[in-house]
Amino acid sequence: MSWRGVVEEFRGFLPLDAAWEPVSLREGNTPLIPVPGLLGGERELYLKFEGMNPTGSFKDRGMAVAVTAARGQGARITVCASTGNTAAAAAAYSARAGLRSVVVIPEGKIARGKLAQSLLYGAAVLALEGNFDAALALVRRLVERRPDVALVNSVNPYRLEGQKTAAFEVVDALGGVPDYLAIPVGNAGNITAYWKGFREYRDAGRTPGVPCMLGFQAEGAAPLVRGVPVEHPETVATAIRIGNPASWQGAVAAARDSGGGIFSVTDAQILAAYRLLASRVGIFAEPASAAALAGVLQLERTGRLAPRARVVAVLTGHGLKDPDTAIDQAGAPRHVSAEVDALEEAVDHWSA
Ligand SMILES: *Cc1c(COP(=O)(O)O)cnc(C)c1O
Repeated sequence: MSWRGVVEEFRGFLPLDAAWEPVSLREGNTPLIPVPGLLGGERELYLKFEGMNPTGSFKDRGMAVAVTAARGQGARITVCASTGNTAAAAAAYSARAGLRSVVVIPEGKIARGKLAQSLLYGAAVLALEGNFDAALALVRRLVERRPDVALVNSVNPYRLEGQKTAAFEVVDALGGVPDYLAIPVGNAGNITAYWKGFREYRDAGRTPGVPCMLGFQAEGAAPLVRGVPVEHPETVATAIRIGNPASWQGAVAAARDSGGGIFSVTDAQILAAYRLLASRVGIFAEPASAAALAGVLQLERTGRLAPRARVVAVLTGHGLKDPDTAIDQAGAPRHVSAEVDALEEAVDHWSA
């Protein structure tokens, strides 16, 4: 039978009213890709490629559940603040559900693919002079006034309920828990959701243990590492350019209770991992996603990764979301004249 999306596949683990019709674009069931040879020793690395979701990021899991609940509860409009991917997912799932969608983005700070998606899915896209944290504070105030508007940021508990399903899939695909689960951290909803998912699967007897949770922030936007909010977060990884994460406590608890931690990586490390993923592994993920791999490589280099560990890193979004960074990193195409000699010369030059 073909995959039905996270609401129907995992309904027994989701707090949804039986009368609510699922809203789905058949999200989830993303590949867990083994990558032999990238880590040293007998370590095993797997990449959970969430870029393969319908709008190209893991946000689809949470949005399927949040929009199912919003429509079930009678909302007419969804609203969110977003660094881009939440906006794209909210716009798509609202379109699917027959709801209007309003998304508030930080002006000039969202990747072009995400902007294109949100616009074409038909959301009202509002660019705010201010960062993500300011946008979130604003939409939270709106929904206090408007019961017909559903907030679909990850402060909506249904979002995390949907996103925890990725942890179930990791366990199902591996036939057990990994030793480490590495994940980029922005607003900190996803690390909170994975941790919840792993614990629920353990408590349901599906697996004996839980993994050690490793969260990675960009150095210029690392409030959880510093222990205080960052007023002006800056990083090339716009999806995690957040200075005051809404799920702060959830992330801290995940790291502490699993024996893991929250660490930071520099933009240079993020971009190196981004290029490595594409050129050596064949996976085009967006810069924020590469923070997870950059972090795993950093922990290995500094001797903090157990020798025979099985590691899963979550690649949260697709590289096509952010074509500008890709071209910026890889350079423009070279010119060739319409002569076979010139072509052959280019081939030899390239393969030398
Ligand atoms: C939203 C997002 C993140 C950060 O997830 P949080 O739940 O906000 O911590 C990381 N990567 C991508 C691609 C995202 O869209």
